[in-house]
Amino acid sequence: MKRLSSDYEGRCGNCHKLLADDDQFCRYCGTPKGEGGFLPYENSNMCVYGPPVDTTHTCTSCGYSWNIRALGVDNARFCPRCGSSVDTTYEDRY
Ligand SMILES: [Zn+2]
Ligand SMILES: [Zn+2]
Repeated sequence: MKRLSSDYEGRCGNCHKLLADDDQFCRYCGTPKGEGGFLPYENSNMCVYGPPVDTTHTCTSCGYSWNIRALGVDNARFCPRCGSSVDTTYEDRY
């Protein structure tokens, strides 16, 4: 059963991924905060199986870097501060 949600509180208006409070750009699609289609999206809990992976993203422009530990490689591609592309490295600790 599909449930559509239009709750964009703290989310990207384009791909509806969660944004951090001080993010100016979506890390996943590069859309500036507050922009996008804000279309209803399928509110499903993603099930990702696998060992935890430490993923490190570093902005190629401003140097902002952050680390995410999650199940599966985090696929962020844009800097949340300036919207530039990021270099990604990850360590599979399985
Ligand atoms: Zn997005
Ligand atoms: Zn940057």
